[in-house]
Amino acid sequence: MRKAINLITALVALKFGRVNAKLKGNPLAADKTIVTFSLPAAWTCPGANLCKARVARDGGLVDGPNVEFRCWAASLEAIRTNVRNAHWHNFDMLKPYLNDARKMADIIGQSLPRRADIVRVHESGDFFNDAYFRAWCLVAAAHPNVLFYAYTKSLKTWIANRAAVPANLVLTASRGGLWDELIDKHGLKTARVVFSIEQASKLGLTIDHDDSAAMDANIREFALLRGPRQLLFGLLVPEEGDTENQAPRIVLGELKLDVCRELICCVLLAAEKRNL
Ligand code: SF4
Repeated sequence: MRKAINLITALVALKFGRVNAKLKGNPLAADKTIVTFSLPAAWTCPGANLCKARVARDGGLVDGPNVEFRCWAASLEAIRTNVRNAHWHNFDMLKPYLNDARKMADIIGQSLPRRADIVRVHESGDFFNDAYFRAWCLVAAAHPNVLFYAYTKSLKTWIANRAAVPANLVLTASRGGLWDELIDKHGLKTARVVFSIEQASKLGLTIDHDDSAAMDANIREFALLRGPRQLLFGLLVPEEGDTENQAPRIVLGELKLDVCRELICCVLLAAEKRNL
């Protein structure tokens, strides 16, 4: 009986993820239960531009027309079917109520893990419309002891609904989207992607290695170092028709290399251990 109840709950609840190792070094997050929530990359990101890449439900990654730094989450969806399925499961649950903020807030609130202290909204995906944005505002307002934080390129939606954002929902404008000019115009908290420590110090910005700056509403601007994990995922190029058995493929200009999954796992683990 309990098994049946668990199965039904899994089918009707949104899926939240566990925090990745990177956040565990964050002093603000020490001893806290941190969960993440995601939607399909780019399909739910109306403001995506230089990052835009998306994966069809059944696989196959397609870059957007202006892609300069491929979406890390889309690359992950392309090689991990279970990740992609979880993102689509969440979107499918919300889609019937696209214009009903209250209903979406109810679904999110009912699925939110009870012990969550901190919620990273959207490791993948974004605020796809105003109602969905307001749904998260309602959820955060109903859980004043929980810290919610998110990066977003949905800047028009944020600005239009700014008055509804409670203090425990901390938003950071992510550059490289369609409406970057709104960041300075409206004084939005923001992050810049940098490729070296020197570049960050020239800009006078602190690098956020563990999301502590993203969680802190008082820090108005910081840098994100694009590390080996992101660079590696950015090089992986699944193609239309690839199956689960297709080895990850790295493309460097004309050169196409199939690389073994074990090698990639080793690189990712080594980078994760060093907080890169
Ligand atoms: S906005 Fe974020 S999740 Fe969406 S495509 Fe860009 S990097 Fe990916």
